[in-house]
Amino acid sequence: MTADGMIEFLRQYADDRLNSWLVDERRTLPPSLMSHFGAEGLLGLRVEQKYGGRGLSYTDTFRVIQQTAAIDPNLAVLLVVHNSLGIPPIRDFADEETKQRVLPVLATGRGLTTVATSEPGMGSNVVRGMTATAIRQHDRGFIINGKKSWISLGAASTYITVLAKLQEPNGRKKGITAFLLPTSTPGFRPYSEAMTIGLRGIPQDHIALENMRVPPSAVLGEEGAGAAVAQNSFRTGRAFLAATGTGAMQRCIQLAERFASRRSIATGRLLDNGVTQQILADCAAAARTVEALVFSTADRLDRGGPVPDEFFFACKIIGCELAGEVVDRCVQLLGARGFVDTDVVGKYFRDFRVLRIFEGATEAMSVYFGTRVLRDLESFNATFVKTFGSTRLGSELYAGLHDLVDRAGPGLTPAQRHVLARAVGETACWGVTAAAIAETAENTRAELDFFAAHWAVQRLDQRFAAARREVRPVLELSPHILSRHIAQYAGSIGDTQQSHGGERRAVDAFLRRDPV
Ligand SMILES: Cc1cc2nc3c(=O)[nH]c(=O)nc-3n(C[C@H](O)[C@H](O)[C@H](O)COP(=O)(O)OP(=O)(O)OC[C@H]3O[C@@H](n4cnc5c(N)ncnc54)[C@H](O)[C@@H]3O)c2cc1C
Repeated sequence: MTADGMIEFLRQYADDRLNSWLVDERRTLPPSLMSHFGAEGLLGLRVEQKYGGRGLSYTDTFRVIQQTAAIDPNLAVLLVVHNSLGIPPIRDFADEETKQRVLPVLATGRGLTTVATSEPGMGSNVVRGMTATAIRQHDRGFIINGKKSWISLGAASTYITVLAKLQEPNGRKKGITAFLLPTSTPGFRPYSEAMTIGLRGIPQDHIALENMRVPPSAVLGEEGAGAAVAQNSFRTGRAFLAATGTGAMQRCIQLAERFASRRSIATGRLLDNGVTQQILADCAAAARTVEALVFSTADRLDRGGPVPDEFFFACKIIGCELAGEVVDRCVQLLGARGFVDTDVVGKYFRDFRVLRIFEGATEAMSVYFGTRVLRDLESFNATFVKTFGSTRLGSELYAGLHDLVDRAGPGLTPAQRHVLARAVGETACWGVTAAAIAETAENTRAELDFFAAHWAVQRLDQRFAAARREVRPVLELSPHILSRHIAQYAGSIGDTQQSHGGERRAVDAFLRRDPV
């Protein structure tokens, strides 16, 4: 089955077999979905054919992901987690025997897989904050203990890649290591599921790892190099997420335009109103810009050349933020209908809010990326020029980033450094995004693409203007005064905590297996 066949299948499946509101209400995907998706190859998009997968290019993979996201965010996240987070550690780091045993199961939908990195006390600060441990035993195997949080498909998976800090029996630390485990391993205990506001069809599990005994062969990649194993997935995963964003944006714009073409307001047809036309043009420019960024990333990956990290940061930071912005504007354009679950757009608002949070929240990513750029502005500029050639956009970006550093001045406090890093990270990502759509417009010569390229440069200019104010604010509020002010809210609004029982969710103490 080719990507075109999969896309055809997905459209038919949506029309005939899917009820997204039942998925939400039941908080689960249809039981038959796995076998259908498995048979169509959707669960082995980038797995080589010799292991039962479809071996699609990145371009075709992102087309399938974009289509899926335009049908239901739950389905898209299922495919993204399994194909872009779960499978790559096995495909790229497992030994041949493991690949032959595990990949055919996963690629054909006979089992799911995911990655467990986050913990109750650690999300963005992966390396420093991790507490899960793997202690080497005398038989060279390991005993893993710890807790993992927010693991998409955690309890539903057959295999899971767990990250833990490796320790020798003498206490010597060897660093974060990745382990591939069957979830049937004794000690793997999902203990609760997060009641998320969206994506209700995808379980987000909290998992205890209790004295899990695993063999030496469970290690993926090198001991102590688990961060690289996870990073390998998270890197391309960022482009997968932006691909879901393009599907969501296009679907919401499609519906908003349809509504505006049928709805009458005081000035006549909503679509003939100048304000509506500007909103839709802005949204279409944003969607096209992200699409250009995603497919330019895919094309570079498919051509096999090294793809600069800058593309993936831009996909996550700009792609996911723009998806949120466009969906929100479409909710607004639909008026009351934007606030109704069954009118589709509102569901995207709930489900895809998480794009800005998971696999690295925007602020954390921007600060991290901005710190990297600041460390070596010359090398960022050299990569930009090597990728896009010498352009006016590139020169202005480079000069603008220098200007931000100069404005911030020397001797910054840690808090001022965070602000500068975020400003630099976001403007640098806008620069990469604007360059990607400009390059696409030059190739396609399409009117909409030139419009989007111009729009992206305007957004870059706006971000620079805001960044200049952020790094040298005219007025500042001390954190101390801010906290004292917020403490006073208790006077105006109290601090209530509801205790009314309402619907019971837990098993009665008389019936629980373990007495309280
Ligand atoms: C639906 C869902 C599915 C998920 N699936 C998985 C999964 O399958 N596997 C997995 O391992 N994890 C998963 N996660 C966890 C997810 O990756 C983390 O939630 C995410 O990385 C953010 O971490 P956190 O929630 O601990 O937020 P925190 O790190 O506590 O961040 C809180 C706030 O602080 C900001 N912040 C953090 N660091 C900085 C910084 N340096 N500078 C400025 N601001 C900062 C953030 O932007 C955010 O606004 C999932 C989460 C959700 C909600």
